[in-house]
Amino acid sequence: MAIIAFIGLGNMGSGMCANLAKAGHEVRAFDLSAEAVKRAEGAGARGAKSAAEAVSGADAIVTMLPAGKHVRAVYEGEIFDAAQPGTVIMDCSTIDVATARSVGEAAAAKGFLFVDAPVSGGVAAADAGTLTFMVGGPEAAFAKAEPFLSNMGKAVIHAGDAGTGQAAKICNNMLLGITMIGTCEAFALADRLGLDQQRFFDIASKASGQSWSMTSYCPVPGPVETSPANRGYTPGFATAMMLKDLKLAMDAAATSGASTPLGAQAEALYALFDNMGGGSSDFSAIYKLLQGSWNTE
Ligand code: NAD
Repeated sequence: MAIIAFIGLGNMGSGMCANLAKAGHEVRAFDLSAEAVKRAEGAGARGAKSAAEAVSGADAIVTMLPAGKHVRAVYEGEIFDAAQPGTVIMDCSTIDVATARSVGEAAAAKGFLFVDAPVSGGVAAADAGTLTFMVGGPEAAFAKAEPFLSNMGKAVIHAGDAGTGQAAKICNNMLLGITMIGTCEAFALADRLGLDQQRFFDIASKASGQSWSMTSYCPVPGPVETSPANRGYTPGFATAMMLKDLKLAMDAAATSGASTPLGAQAEALYALFDNMGGGSSDFSAIYKLLQGSWNTE
């Protein structure tokens, strides 16, 4: 069993940290929120007073922070100076590819085994230990990180070199945003044409319009019992989170020169929905905006 430093004990990090402790590791937990550290202590971790204290003498480090600026600040401000070279480091936050690459390169130059390892799956998967990890970094770093990530997830996939985990995450979520909007448009049109939504689902879910957005996360109430549409669009995956990932995708498209016109439309529509008060609703609630019933009930 290893000594693991865990930094960032929010909605996602608290469950992930608990699963590492449950697997028998000695986990040293730190967050800017004292309450979050207390919660981690209750789940079997040992609280630390700073990121530097948590990482000093650790065999492995996991970070689960909001955005690129937090990741850069924690690594450059504390971790790189306090951790011992050779330590395996996993940044599981969803951040921009450019920051992931530059922090990864700085870590490698200092002798750390660094991977970017963002996740798919929300808070429920973090709690249950069933996340999917998309991992970017050298083969040797992946081999060291894989057993720890497996303690927190059901699938750990090596995407390629540094930054490719983040690249996989934002490409996947751009596609998800686009297919969700397309699925919502189809249901809204079906509605206007007098087609019963369950009947449309029965047909489209077995025809060429099928997608995960339709069959696993259907945006209208009824067809898929577990979808947020059946619980008033409580997330799930909040619109604000989808918007964050679409912004990351559009930034990456701009810097790499990729053409992503539908991604740009999806970002614009989710920004509009966020401005109209949809930010904390599940991202499938954009159905109500497209159908014309958002905030009218
Ligand atoms: P969160 O805001 O709940 O948690 C982030 C935590 O980081 C907070 O507790 C905050 O206090 C802490 N923090 C910030 N700066 C810090 C610092 N300098 N030192 C120590 N702690 C610091 O966010 P979350 O929902 O847990 O998401 C974390 C990451 O996971 C994000 O990048 C998000 O995009 C990604 N993600 C979230 C979900 C989801 O459904 N919530 C799903 C997939 C990926």
